[in-house]
Amino acid sequence: MNPSNYREQALKILPWICARCAREFDGKRVRELTVHHKDGNHDHNPPDGSNWELLCIYCHENEHARVEDAKSGSEPESRGKTATHRPLEGLAELLKKKG
Ligand SMILES: [Zn+2]
Ligand SMILES: [Zn+2]
Repeated sequence: MNPSNYREQALKILPWICARCAREFDGKRVRELTVHHKDGNHDHNPPDGSNWELLCIYCHENEHARVEDAKSGSEPESRGKTATHRPLEGLAELLKKKG
């Protein structure tokens, strides 16, 4: 299958409904319906549509914004810096008082 045809194929086998907001699309408005790849791999296009989800352009944008948020929220480097700095500072204070 030509990889650039996956949208056509998805529209053929999936109902023209946004999987998030459940808006229905028909005729020209189907242009606002986009193919989202569930596993994020645009080269993974099983012909049975198991990796596809039809999302309207708004929900599609949200979907990807959400993924970006999750990524930056769990970034280990920036978190580790703020998390380890304070406890060590407190420990030094404790040791000072003790000794
Ligand atoms: Zn939607
Ligand atoms: Zn997507």
